[in-house]
Amino acid sequence: MTAEIINGKAFAEGLRERVAAAVPEFHSASGRAPGLAVVLVGEDPASQVYVRSKGKATVAAGMQSIEHRLPPSVSQDELIALVAALNADDMVDGILVQLPLPPQIDEKAVIAAIDPAKDVDGFHVVNAGRLAVGEDALVPCTPLGCLMLLKDKLGDLSGLDAVVIGRSNIVGKPMAQLLIKESCTVTVAHSRTKDLSDVVRRADIVVAAVGRPEMVRGGWIKPGATVIDVGINRVPSTEPGKTRLVGDVAYAEAAEVAGAITPVPGGVGPMTIAVLLRNTLVAAHARLGLAAPE
Ligand code: NDP
Repeated sequence: MTAEIINGKAFAEGLRERVAAAVPEFHSASGRAPGLAVVLVGEDPASQVYVRSKGKATVAAGMQSIEHRLPPSVSQDELIALVAALNADDMVDGILVQLPLPPQIDEKAVIAAIDPAKDVDGFHVVNAGRLAVGEDALVPCTPLGCLMLLKDKLGDLSGLDAVVIGRSNIVGKPMAQLLIKESCTVTVAHSRTKDLSDVVRRADIVVAAVGRPEMVRGGWIKPGATVIDVGINRVPSTEPGKTRLVGDVAYAEAAEVAGAITPVPGGVGPMTIAVLLRNTLVAAHARLGLAAPE
């Protein structure tokens, strides 16, 4: 068997187009474009790349991108004061503070300072709590993107066995909550899980969010299962001095067994920014009491 490749890049492009198509209606209702504020502290090269891509995608969708760059030495109080100003700014619908933050700043305190209605990353405990109790919430972008790909591929997920490997607040836990909401039978595995290969072998849906290159082997996958690989790991390439990206799943092996699988790159990765734009649009509508577009 050779798995169908789940094309996250194409799905993400479609989602970005749908978001862009909904912006003019918001504009006519509100007199302005939805606004996304991104705060970058310091000069971490990967964070700079992410922030640039987010800004470009925001503008391409017809939204307003507001960027704040702060020096690495900024104090927690100064950062929280900026977040408070963005909370109070009516032109700002979404606030994203790019992580990681420098060591003098407590990430939790900064996330807690964001107005939950503008928390487009979905990291605030109010949004995590709403998701856990099944209420409308702003949901973290990466797991929501994974769910969109799963529903696009499988339709109704009800009754399926799902294994999520990883229990981070950013990916694993919200992923598990989303799958519970879809009436899957969910197992959450982590570094203390015993006999992980046996646990994975039971699953109709495998979501790997670990950060260990090619850890999930083809022999662990139930034939026909749907595999969503969240991992982004840079490893040495066969060409000396070069690197390449691999996921948490041994792709070539798993593709022999799975029914469908996301590649790395081109699977989950492109979904994150597309969902961020979607969350900003949803937050903008909710703040004005407008119904969210489909
Ligand atoms: P974290 O490091 O926060 O969490 C990793 C999880 O994997 C932990 O729960 C950990 O368990 C678990 N784990 C570690 N080792 C093992 C093991 N040997 N067996 C089973 N479980 C294990 O990572 P994130 O959730 O933030 O990210 C996971 C991956 O997803 C990374 O590769 C990251 O780069 C990628 N990622 C991709 C995104 C995208 O596509 N846009 C966005 C976010 C992340 P324990 O809790 O016990 O320590």
